Amino acid sequence: MNITIIGGGLAGASIGYHLVKMGNSVTIYDRKDKGQATFASAGIVCPWISQRRNKKWYRLVTKSAHYYPDFISTLEKESGMSTGYKNSGAICLFKENIFDKATKRISDKAVDNPDVGQVRQLTKEELSALHPALTTEYPALIVEGGGQVRGQKLLAAIKEAFIGLGGRWEEKSYENSIDDDTFKIYTTGAWGKEQKYKPEIAHQRAEIMHFKLLTQKVQQSPVVMALGPTYIVHLENDKYVIGTTHIDTDSFDTEPSEESYNYLRDELYKYFKPEDVEITEMGVGLKPYTRDFLPFIGYVDNNTFVVNGMGSTGLTASPFVGKEVALLLNGMPTELDLNDYSYTEPQN
Ligand SMILES: Cc1cc2nc3c(=O)[nH]c(=O)nc-3n(C[C@H](O)[C@H](O)[C@H](O)COP(=O)(O)OP(=O)(O)OC[C@H]3O[C@@H](n4cnc5c(N)ncnc54)[C@H](O)[C@@H]3O)c2cc1C
Repeated sequence: MNITIIGGGLAGASIGYHLVKMGNSVTIYDRKDKGQATFASAGIVCPWISQRRNKKWYRLVTKSAHYYPDFISTLEKESGMSTGYKNSGAICLFKENIFDKATKRISDKAVDNPDVGQVRQLTKEELSALHPALTTEYPALIVEGGGQVRGQKLLAAIKEAFIGLGGRWEEKSYENSIDDDTFKIYTTGAWGKEQKYKPEIAHQRAEIMHFKLLTQKVQQSPVVMALGPTYIVHLENDKYVIGTTHIDTDSFDTEPSEESYNYLRDELYKYFKPEDVEITEMGVGLKPYTRDFLPFIGYVDNNTFVVNGMGSTGLTASPFVGKEVALLLNGMPTELDLNDYSYTEPQN
């Protein structure tokens, strides 16, 4: 099968990689737009903590997290590159009044899913041992199965392996006027609006703040899921990020805003002493989502397939989705019922 993939973020690259492994001839076009979500992403792979109740989404992200370790180990061998994947656990902070209830909610998810690992409440001493500079003001638990990956490194490794396996990567825009009869897969992220296919793609501007922890140089440190939507991710050595803002917008502007800077600085100072941190830069990504916040994976006509709306868990889901789409297009059985994600009606 000759296939053209338009969009080389993590979604398109993952699909291309799995397709070439199955013997397909694939060309990926990517124009590296500023604001590419994969480039800006934080890298948390820990879907079990979310309070979302959408079962189709949960099935997708938990199967995706399960696929990660094997996928990464094969990919790193094939590409000879590191993806920054670490299975260093996730510390979750809560307000006192909901701590026990939250512990039970997350522990329940571990009962029939070994990927979650142990879930246990931490003493202040245990918390400080895991993350010395982090505040001990909030009760904390650890989810031992939590992991993290570096979006940019992962994408670079997939691209390397894809090309090594015979795929073609064109670093340029795919113009819709190019008239060829190859099968097309659109994975254009926030720029999906340009194609006018259903479902409608909207995007959120998500800003993250990069900072250094002046008192802490470690090889690895667990991800921190802090209060509300805030998270803290260790990148390497003394480098960390804290995120994120979620602002619905039609704009493709990727200049950092003062408002987001102030918001994230205030968040940062909730968890670390100001004298322990040095803010280094801001990152801005455009996160694609659908009306239902459920990824869309499906045909839009006989010759065109769309994967988009990967939202806040696209880094987690893309490798597995890539495998599933490659199986489907090669007429092989998939683990998920992909009809669940090829929807026209609103999803619950
Ligand atoms: C700040 C931030 C933090 C995040 N943190 C996490 C996290 O911790 N865990 C997690 O699981 N997920 C996270 N995500 C979500 C995840 O990054 C995204 O869901 C995922 O990267 C989306 O991938 P994508 O390939 O669909 O889109 P993108 O990565 O945006 O890629 C789309 C690509 O298509 C290209 N393109 C568009 N039109 C054309 C065209 N006509 N021709 C050629 N190329 C074209 C663009 O240039 C772009 O490179 C985060 C996102 C952001 C922004």
